[in-house]
Amino acid sequence: MINFRLATTLLVLLFIILIGFSYKTLEEKLCNNLVLYVSNEPLNSKVTSIRSFNQAVNINITPRKTPVYNESLKVVYLTFDDGPSQNTLTILDILKEKNVKGTFFVNYHPNCDAIYKKIHEDGHAIGNHTYSHDFSRIYQSESAFFEDYDKLNSYLQSIIGFAPDIMRFPGGSNTGYGKNDIMKSLTKELKTRGIEYFDWNSLNGDAEGQALNRNQLIEKVKHTSLNKNKLIVLMLIQIQNKVQLIHCQKLLITLVAKVIFSHL
Ligand SMILES: [Zn+2]
Repeated sequence: MINFRLATTLLVLLFIILIGFSYKTLEEKLCNNLVLYVSNEPLNSKVTSIRSFNQAVNINITPRKTPVYNESLKVVYLTFDDGPSQNTLTILDILKEKNVKGTFFVNYHPNCDAIYKKIHEDGHAIGNHTYSHDFSRIYQSESAFFEDYDKLNSYLQSIIGFAPDIMRFPGGSNTGYGKNDIMKSLTKELKTRGIEYFDWNSLNGDAEGQALNRNQLIEKVKHTSLNKNKLIVLMLIQIQNKVQLIHCQKLLITLVAKVIFSHL
């Protein structure tokens, strides 16, 4: 009888450990990100969003590193697309100074080997954002997409020693860039490969080709963050002119300094 109880207890413990392990793996995939701010405000059921993306992926992520989870906990995942570039080094400095981890969805850029390495060595996540980011090529067919995608994986393997298990579709998974039937087969193949893809549900607007100043960038993040507890913020910080870059850097500092969320 005692042996039976002992065996049952051990089995339950093993089960809990396995669940914990698999959860951690998922969390690690999303990756070394950060818990920025714990809000005391209650949840608001109204969701205001300029563009809503793949909510199911976002909502399922619970920040297990936080001692006590409750619904009012705000988690922000800072994501930087389309790099790396020289600007990435500035972003890395800011993140290091603020002790914050980000996720970089990268493409191939020549002469940036050291920057890919630094992103990884600094403890940030790297995700595959395709080699070329060329919509007309990658969304032509499933084989065209994965040829491009695998090309970046091979490159990253040679630079950082592994191919990422997270990715983001150029243009997002449901913004209409990828035709629906293609997107279905692409996501199916990714699932088969064990790759998680992430969209975003908040953005600073610098991906939309307008020259926004610092206040506009902040307003955009605030507006697209309203009433959401889990944020995946999209930023490029790659293509701006010098003034824009400074605006974006200030926004980033503001974000990681947790200031913005006291106004939401
Ligand atoms: Zn992109």
